Amino acid sequence: MRNKTWDVIIVGGGIIGLSLAISLRKRGATVLVVERGEPGREASHAAGGMLVDCSAETPAALQPLAIASASMYPEFAHELEVESGTKVDLRDRGAIVFPPPEHVHERPGFTLASLLPAPLAELEPALAEPERPAFYLKERSVDPRALTAAAVKTAKNRGVDFSSGDPVTAVNLSDGHVSGLRTAKTSFLSEKVVNCAGAWAAQIACGSNAPPVIPTRPVKGQMLCLVMPSREFIRHVVRTPDVYLIPRSDGRLLVGATVEEAGFDKRTVPATIQRQRAAAIALVPKLANARILEDWAGLRPGTPDALPILGATETAGYYVATGHFRDGILLAPITAQVMADVIEGHKPEHNFAAFTPSRFT
Ligand SMILES: Cc1cc2nc3c(=O)[nH]c(=O)nc-3n(C[C@H](O)[C@H](O)[C@H](O)COP(=O)(O)OP(=O)(O)OC[C@H]3O[C@@H](n4cnc5c(N)ncnc54)[C@H](O)[C@@H]3O)c2cc1C
Repeated sequence: MRNKTWDVIIVGGGIIGLSLAISLRKRGATVLVVERGEPGREASHAAGGMLVDCSAETPAALQPLAIASASMYPEFAHELEVESGTKVDLRDRGAIVFPPPEHVHERPGFTLASLLPAPLAELEPALAEPERPAFYLKERSVDPRALTAAAVKTAKNRGVDFSSGDPVTAVNLSDGHVSGLRTAKTSFLSEKVVNCAGAWAAQIACGSNAPPVIPTRPVKGQMLCLVMPSREFIRHVVRTPDVYLIPRSDGRLLVGATVEEAGFDKRTVPATIQRQRAAAIALVPKLANARILEDWAGLRPGTPDALPILGATETAGYYVATGHFRDGILLAPITAQVMADVIEGHKPEHNFAAFTPSRFT
């Protein structure tokens, strides 16, 4: 691959880099994904997979993109399933949300009574305190591990090239324009490079003087996975201010997640995992005997204003698509579409002025 030139090189094979690679390839571009480890094993592997398009925690500036991306999901997931032969467990049972009291009144149009399609005891019989006020939200969930595996297969099937196990160290410039990138072992040629390195995006150097500022930081999330007593034991996503539960169709139940400023530390802490398990049992007492299948931690790509960084930098040919923080699984389809438009020089359908990389310079 040494002397080959690609139309676009993407740094990072998480769900953002993979979705963008597929989108660009579908439009005819030649694409190389350079991943320092194995594609899809970082934040995108650790995620819960809730597709929350309407939440008190979603910044207002992100809401339109979140809604657009959520509406793209059925087609996005279907295409990946068909092209890869991998099921991604897209579920649409909705979410039952126990909000903190202040949020009950904050959001116009949300009334507790009108948003529950049936009594709580019927929707989720295993929940403790069935008379507790709750919202029902029509939202989906997906299995991010299956999704990224499907995206890797789809990208390969479509002819996206991969270089794995070799970290990108710097983006190369020639006369102020991107000419490719350097890795620990080699270099690759392209006039367009997209930094999709998630929480690590800030570590990639660019040229020698005044590189674009990409202020991502890792935000740790610890989670665990329980085996439900039966596959339909919990059917909806359930969220409280303390913990959330995400059922998978195969009978797994994810319990998460912490939001911690802990640097690049991906170790789980037994006491934290036990605290999350206890919160799940307080919500659903019959989980007391459920076996823990696995626990893990991942690093969300956080940014100073909690908004993603999307678009062209001031360095010609250098683009960024990162900083998706808690919503990168949800935002993958819209990010791929918007970024592919920008890279091809088209005006994107969505206004993403709030996400421009230059806001930090
Ligand atoms: C516990 C937890 C729960 C979450 N739950 C949800 C949820 O329910 N819904 C949701 O929408 N989102 C959720 N998220 C957020 C979501 O996981 C992220 O926003 C999303 O995965 C970011 O994708 P990414 O591709 O940018 O990053 P990543 O998946 O981290 O991918 C970045 C890739 O870049 C590679 N890389 C880094 N540096 C280099 C380098 N120098 N050279 C080459 N490659 C490099 C990494 O190895 C990695 O594979 C959750 C995250 C966590 C941790």
